[in-house]
Order: sequence, then structure tokens, then C-alpha cells
Amino acid sequence: MEITELTVKEIVEKIKKKEIGVKETVLAYLKNIEDKDNNIKAFLSINNEEALIKAEELDKENEKNGQIFGIPVAIKDNINVYGTETTAGSKILKGYISPYDATVVKKIKEQNGITIGKTNCDEFAMGSSTENSAFFNTKNPVNTDYVPGGSSGGSAASVAANEAAAAFGSDTGGSIREPAGFCGIVGLKPTYGRVSRYGLIAFGSSLDVIGPLAKNVEDAAILTNVIAGFDHKDETTANLPVENYTDFLKRGIKGKKLGVIKEINDFKIQDEVSITLKEAINKLEIQGCEIEEVSIPHLKYALPTYYLVAPSEASSNLSRFDGVRYGLQGCGDNLRDFYEDTRTKGFGREVKRRILIGTFALSEGYFDEYYLKASKVRRLIAMDFEKAFEKVDALILPTTATTAFKFNEKKNPLEMYMSDIFTIPMNLAGIPAISIPFGKDNKGLPIGIQIVGKWFEEGEIFQISYALEQSKES
Ligand code: GLN
Repeated sequence: MEITELTVKEIVEKIKKKEIGVKETVLAYLKNIEDKDNNIKAFLSINNEEALIKAEELDKENEKNGQIFGIPVAIKDNINVYGTETTAGSKILKGYISPYDATVVKKIKEQNGITIGKTNCDEFAMGSSTENSAFFNTKNPVNTDYVPGGSSGGSAASVAANEAAAAFGSDTGGSIREPAGFCGIVGLKPTYGRVSRYGLIAFGSSLDVIGPLAKNVEDAAILTNVIAGFDHKDETTANLPVENYTDFLKRGIKGKKLGVIKEINDFKIQDEVSITLKEAINKLEIQGCEIEEVSIPHLKYALPTYYLVAPSEASSNLSRFDGVRYGLQGCGDNLRDFYEDTRTKGFGREVKRRILIGTFALSEGYFDEYYLKASKVRRLIAMDFEKAFEKVDALILPTTATTAFKFNEKKNPLEMYMSDIFTIPMNLAGIPAISIPFGKDNKGLPIGIQIVGKWFEEGEIFQISYALEQSKES
């Protein structure tokens, strides 16, 4: 088997046993990038020189310490990596070189992971197909006529195409889980506050979470071990101990109670996705899981709520891009014209749309009617989940209602927004959720199944999703 087909766990083991070298590993991935990325276009930039220098250094180390020793990882381009260009998929940040590492990147480096490149994404992580990148489209490695999902489409494609052993992305409303589902890999959105956002370019600060994209559940657990934890640079991180997530994997699921959300039936779901969900539930029941129907009565309000909360926070966060301190600089005879020119040229259509919606929702006279009301509904959605979790340990539902779609298929922004109906509610509530590949549709496109857990109970969802993943083989 080629190195690039191995899992993170397998590569680390082989490196530690000196069966393969770190440089050999990095070169294998760089070769795959060279061979495939002209077509797939997962990467915005490649960190080859630095990656090889780091690999040589690691090969010289006698003590091979670190949970991801020598693992080449791809990083979504809205996460700062020292000394590399960080654009967040936007023209407004073209040429911006990060002067520091995001906390997750620092942690990856501390565990001797190697950042191999920055991946394409929807501009400022706004989108569900990576078509909103200001630079180019990324293709789905499973079938290149289809989108890889988004906004972390480059990260998902890099793993699915074996151009990186694992990747990191951000999830504000589904941007890790939806592309993981579309590309047939595993993606975890951790609990809000489990992973530091320091160094992540902010979109919706009360929703954003960084998480891993990986080949299987075990790799996702290892990567979560690496990045989770309190960070004094992000005051929204929780000061709770980090469990060893890999310890949960093989515990079995006998007696676990799993909830199926009644209200998902109010949405149109592709037949093959519904059938696959039933099959997944069946596999879990065989292993001793009890299934119970639960209700999330406010589920149908999740999408409109999100499209007030997220753009409001985005409009505020994006006000810092004015051309004065970094990135693209427009021109103008006075400050106002200068700002306007910079932002008109620098931002793409979707980003402008969100800024307009958000600014409107926050403006005087409308704040109570829109933003405040949305915040209240958000609380009701979180309470629905709280209530469901009184009865069950975790929830199961599809990651998306359909499999991947073709480029330019969703012309109306509202249609694109619908891609996230089953992922957005978890961001509003702040709870953890994992997407794992389970079956394919009749076109051969992967189907993602989501397991959702209680606040800070990532271990529980790793345990259940691992059991589900194993059941695919049986
Ligand atoms: N697709 C959603 C949006 O465009 C979610 C994006 C994300 O999770 N970053 O807002």
C-alpha cells in the first residue's frame, strides 16, 4: 500500500518503528499534490520547502515524540500559519502573510505534525460548495463533475484525494461536516469552546469552531486530542480537562440510547439518504443500541435564525478589512472613498450580501425585531436539544439531505443555504457533531451520517461513530 493511502495512526506507527522516514512521507504527499492538484485544486498554497526542512529535522530525532509525528496536514486558508499567505479565500487578503500561528497550528507543531499547505475555501467560509472562493473551484475527488462541498472544500478534497494525511477546517454552520459528507471522509465539529479560535479568521464568532477532517474516526479522535483544550488567548474556550478521545473508540455501544429527530421528516430528503439512515440505525441496533424518537420542535427555524445571527456577526467581524492595515488597498481622495473602493474590489458577492443582511439586522430600530429575536429562537433550539438529551445519549441524522451537487447547480443563494439544514442547528446550540461516510447513492456519491452529542461529550460521539464505521465491514 502507498504511504498516502495509510491512516494517520498507521503512518505514525511506521515512522516510530523506522519502517518509513518522515521525508519519504512528505515527498510522497508532495508527489500526489503535483500529480493530482492541477485537476482537483484543493490547495491555494503549498508549503513544500518548509515541510521538507521540518521532515529532515524530524528524521534526525531519536525520540520520535508526538501524537502526529511526521504527519503532513493541510490547513484551511482561514487559519493562520506563521510565514504563509492566509487569504480566507478572499481577494481582500491576497498577499497577507501571517505573522503568527493560530493556537491549533501551534498545537499541531508541538505534536510534530507538518503543515503541508493551505486549502481552498469559500470566501471567509461563507458557502457550501467552495464555489465562493475568489480564486478557483475545487473538485470533488470522488467525481470531479461535482462540488466537494464547503466551505472547507479544499480540506476535504485534500484528504479524499490523498494529497494530505489529514486536514483542519472550520465549521460555522456545517463547513466541516458537509464537505466531509460529500467527499466520503470523516469530519468533526467539536463543541463550541472545546478548541481555540485564536488565529482563525472570524466569521460568526459565537458559532465558529475548528475541527479535523480525516480518513476514519480513529484519526479524527487522534487529531481532536491534538487541538482540544483551554487557551488563555481565546476566552470562550472552556477550562475543562481534555479526555483522551481514542480511549472511547472500542468501548462498544450496548445499552446506548440514540435519538432520531422526528422533525427531519418535514424536509425533503433524497431517497437513498433516507434508506442509508435506516441502514445505519439498523446496524447500531444490532450492536445493542436503543433507538428512540425525539422532538426538536424549533428545527425548522434553525436556518432563518442562522441567517440573521451569522451575517450579523460577520458584518461586525469583517469591518476590520478596510485596506489600511493589511491586504488589498483601494484608492480614493478621502477615507470614505478609500474604504469603499477597497471593500467593493476586495469582497465577493456572497460576502457583500452577508454584510448587507447583517448590517441591516443590527441597525437601530431593527435590532430587536431581527437580531434579538433570532438570539431568542437560538436559545429555544438549544433548549430543545437539552430536553432531547434528557432521554438519549446522542442523536443520529443525515449530514445533508442530498449527496453532492454539480457546479453552478445552485444559482439561487437560498438553495445553497438549504444544504446546511441538518448541520446548522448544532452550531446554534454549540453541541458537537461528527459526519461519517456510510454508503453511496446510485451515482456512486458518498452519503454522510451525523452523530450528535451533548456539550463536551465528543468521546461519546467518537464511540458511537466508531461502532457505526466498524459495522460497515460486517
Ligand atoms: N454554508 C454555511 C454558510 O455559508 C456555513 C458555512 C460554515 O460553516 N462556515 O454560512
